[in-house]
Amino acid sequence: MVSTMALRARLSGTFCKLYNDLSYNCRQSHNKYATASATQSKSELKSKYDVVIVGAGHNGLVSAAYLQEAGLNVCVVERRHVIGGAAVTEEIIPGFKFSRASYVLSLLRPKIVQDLELKKYGLEVYLRDPSSYTPLLNPGGRDGKARSLLLHRDSQKTAESIAQFSQKDAKNWIEYEKQLEHIVSAIEPLMDNAPVSLPNVMAPTIREQLKSLPAILTLLKSLKGLGKETDAFYELMTAPTTKILDKWFESEPLKATLATDSVIGAMISPKTPGSGYVLLHHVMGELDGVKGAWGIVKGGMGAVSQSIANCAVDRGASIFTEAGNLPEDMMSELRNLDYTSPVTKINVAVKELPNFVADPNIRKNEVMPHHRATIHLNCEHSDLIHEGFLDAQAGKFSRKPMIEMVIPTSLDPTMAPPGCHVCLLFTQYTPYHLADGQEWDDGNRNRYADTVFDDIEQYAPGFKASVIGRDILTPPDLEKTFNLTGGNIFHGTMGLDQLYMSRPTTRLSNYKSPVRGLYLCGSGAHPGGGVMGSAGRLAAMETLSFFKRKYVKNNK
Ligand SMILES: Cc1cc2nc3c(=O)[nH]c(=O)nc-3n(C[C@H](O)[C@H](O)[C@H](O)COP(=O)(O)OP(=O)(O)OC[C@H]3O[C@@H](n4cnc5c(N)ncnc54)[C@H](O)[C@@H]3O)c2cc1C
Repeated sequence: MVSTMALRARLSGTFCKLYNDLSYNCRQSHNKYATASATQSKSELKSKYDVVIVGAGHNGLVSAAYLQEAGLNVCVVERRHVIGGAAVTEEIIPGFKFSRASYVLSLLRPKIVQDLELKKYGLEVYLRDPSSYTPLLNPGGRDGKARSLLLHRDSQKTAESIAQFSQKDAKNWIEYEKQLEHIVSAIEPLMDNAPVSLPNVMAPTIREQLKSLPAILTLLKSLKGLGKETDAFYELMTAPTTKILDKWFESEPLKATLATDSVIGAMISPKTPGSGYVLLHHVMGELDGVKGAWGIVKGGMGAVSQSIANCAVDRGASIFTEAGNLPEDMMSELRNLDYTSPVTKINVAVKELPNFVADPNIRKNEVMPHHRATIHLNCEHSDLIHEGFLDAQAGKFSRKPMIEMVIPTSLDPTMAPPGCHVCLLFTQYTPYHLADGQEWDDGNRNRYADTVFDDIEQYAPGFKASVIGRDILTPPDLEKTFNLTGGNIFHGTMGLDQLYMSRPTTRLSNYKSPVRGLYLCGSGAHPGGGVMGSAGRLAAMETLSFFKRKYVKNNK
């Protein structure tokens, strides 16, 4: 499901109906303003908007802030009672606040943080160091004693942890990181610019064709920037991650830990050709100038959306919750897209910190560095991830799921009652459709969560007894709760066929829909999923050029 934006100007046909429906629904719910800010709750529905944004996900809110700043009158309508979409904080269990869907931040574009002054509007992020922790069930490594692997911000420290498993890998780590950094900095400009539009390139007039020029120049600059790493980039885009990692490294669990980034949110295995792109997507961010860093947001991921909404409302935009609906015929174009998803998110309230056998707590319930990292479980070997994928291909949930645990309360204790913690479990693989006519009913939902909890118990005995409550979101639950088609966390898979100039389809790239004045501003558009904001900003830019053209035409 993509967020969309509609322009008041030139509304016609079915779209006029949409606008009327929206106006009606807005009128109906004008006393249910979004919780964006105190200023907003006092505002009244205006009689006319230049732009109506359907969906208050972070991308829709980014669009609103940019468009309002440019002088347009903007209204955002959200079907849920709460803004943020998949970047949301919800108190599901009393006293415990969860980043219910997305949970760590990195991809949000620095330009957006700056342009929208998000720090002034309340965004605070805790950087994590170490960033990744992989405990082992059985000691291993070169001397048979290594209990865990830690990845730090400092490459040298990471190399020392890797050296427990392989000296060769420790040496290669520095070079591997350098290569990824080089590739990321070369292609980064593509994240902040609209893709080349094939319909424009193929247009009959030179005037139309010239519209593609800025995008073509950005693309060429990026390709040139790749320089000697062009081959490596091509391989990342097309090869299986295992092939790439096997070239660099010999030790598990390092390879398995890195491989997790290549399958996050995707119904693929590290052995699937093209899985390297998903890996690249996950190292493309930065926080406070630290490249590739992932952090915990104070107040949860809803605080990202809230800071953007605060900015938009402060600039004059209106936000309404429990409002809006898209006409059926608009959706048919998008039905053929691939929305397959393997993700089940389990949000858990616990009364004490997990105590890992690999690195026992020094004092009961005292946060240790590894508690602040992304904790990778069932990550001893890449084959485990692949086998989990094969289970899902057969219509079953993985018997040994890939588990990423994040404990935001290790950095932000305000999210739970004193002494208690929140454990966010991002897990795969769980197919949307189960085999043998099974449904994702309470029985299967709990059976899967129990499988995950049994595995965690092996790494951290006492975990199960510490659980106060849990919120299980299987792919159909993610679809129902957040309107994510198929439960896909990226609004459509991030395969080569649905990237860049083909995102979400070639005809719909460049944010324009076939309905004049209707634009796509969600993660279904380039550059895709994650709490990035880029699709929202780029759609706003495209919309502004529509208004400029209209203004110039009207003044001729
Ligand atoms: C479980 C999970 C974990 C994730 N983890 C991370 C992570 O850690 N880090 C990260 O960067 N990304 C993560 N992601 C991906 C990221 O959260 C999403 O890609 C991103 O938030 C999408 O933002 P968006 O604004 O494009 O759309 P959404 O957040 O999906 O917002 C769209 C909004 O539109 C509303 N809407 C839809 N239809 C209508 C309608 N007809 N009328 C009115 N309103 C409508 C929806 O209710 C929703 O609020 C995760 C996603 C999930 C689901």
